[in-house]
Amino acid sequence: QWSKVSKELRQELGESSYKSWIEPLELVGVENGIARLSAPSRFVGDWVKRNYHDKIVARLRADHADLAQLEFSVGRATTVSTPSPTAEAPAVLESAPLEGRYTFDNFVVGKPNELAHAAAKRVAEAGPVTFNPLFLYGGVGLGKTHLMHAIAHELHQSRPDLQVLYLSAEQFMYRFVQALRDRQIMDFKNLFRSVDVLMVDDVQFIAGKDSTQEEFFHTFNALVDQNKQIIISADRAPGEIKDLEARITSRMQSGLVVDLHPTDYELRLGILHRKAAIFAETLGPVNVGDGVFEFLAHRITTNVRVLEGALQRLFAFSNLIGQEITLDMVQDCLSDILRSSERRVTVEEIQRKVSEHFNIRLSDMLGPKRARNIARPRQIAMYLAKELTSRSLPEIGRRFGGRDHTTILYGVRKVEEMRSSDSQLAEDVDLLRRLLQS
Ligand code: ADP
Ligand code: MG
Repeated sequence: QWSKVSKELRQELGESSYKSWIEPLELVGVENGIARLSAPSRFVGDWVKRNYHDKIVARLRADHADLAQLEFSVGRATTVSTPSPTAEAPAVLESAPLEGRYTFDNFVVGKPNELAHAAAKRVAEAGPVTFNPLFLYGGVGLGKTHLMHAIAHELHQSRPDLQVLYLSAEQFMYRFVQALRDRQIMDFKNLFRSVDVLMVDDVQFIAGKDSTQEEFFHTFNALVDQNKQIIISADRAPGEIKDLEARITSRMQSGLVVDLHPTDYELRLGILHRKAAIFAETLGPVNVGDGVFEFLAHRITTNVRVLEGALQRLFAFSNLIGQEITLDMVQDCLSDILRSSERRVTVEEIQRKVSEHFNIRLSDMLGPKRARNIARPRQIAMYLAKELTSRSLPEIGRRFGGRDHTTILYGVRKVEEMRSSDSQLAEDVDLLRRLLQS
């Protein structure tokens, strides 16, 4: 009877859809208004459910009048049908929804993200596991989620047989708590241990949540032991996540840790062009006046999401009034965004944050001491002041206890020079920059 249904679907859907989605399914059984089908992967099951649920139900009703819904399990029918003692439907591991636009094709690569992109690409090739876990970190809106979804999309395409599970750390915790509550912790464990690729987004969320961390740690270890790929993202480096257990931190550091740096002007410009092409596809073509992209790339610097939102608003507006996007329109339409991105970091803030970070007194930072443990942070603060504010060297000098502009210049140069040779220093500088800009 399934063969009859599948034959009908073959005619209706055409050969290629049939081959991808219907042919691999098997009907395991029908019971209490639910038809159970087995699919070769979670992805196929999800897809069929989303796209063909009603069609399949309608056809199966010919024989089962009370049929209301389909349920999918993964694997061959014979291996899934071990019924759980409670006789309830086994919980299924649904991936969190993936954003269709977050593909590798739509990801613009520049200096600040090239390593992260390359590492994500490598993992998506699903060859032998080369680094495990892959740990991606970076500030808000720099593309972590985009890259993870891109990996999932790519794997779904090239390896539909793999079970790829993407979810946020928050969802991980939610499911864990739910499993505890429903006394299904064994199911939870088994399900998580059966995936081929596990991606957990924004893992900093589980810091301080002890039992969730514990469970995460075990899941993590079990998967790594089976040589299954794990991909994790966070808003900062593993060692900088407070209240994360040391053993978890060290496991996270045992694979490849890559960092999405804050965007630079060129990357922002590239992203604007790419997003404009994407918006044009959905919202219709729009003319963009001279200097508009350059202005936006120059002014909206911290978060790609904000940049994208600004562009989208301009597209919608331009479409509405049927005129090209001009710099005047930008000023009118985006006054709120432009105003809030005006908030510039001050030299004083930089000094405060840097002193805190290196655990020295603000008075020492501004004072005359020359000991290395004071002088180095001072130079870093000088460097950041030059980078992040529009103050001139003499102005910065005045704010550092009346130092000469040549002293500031020396400090700035020194840090620039050391950034390439001293990775600890480079990391400190990046972290501070990120803190100051968020
Ligand atoms: P995060 O998870 O790091 O906070 P997201 O991945 O959600 O950031 O990215 C925020 C938005 O910016 C998304 O719409 C994403 O498509 C876009 N974005 C970020 N970086 C890039 C990039 N390099 N190329 C294209 N789009 C990007
Ligand atoms: Mg994200």
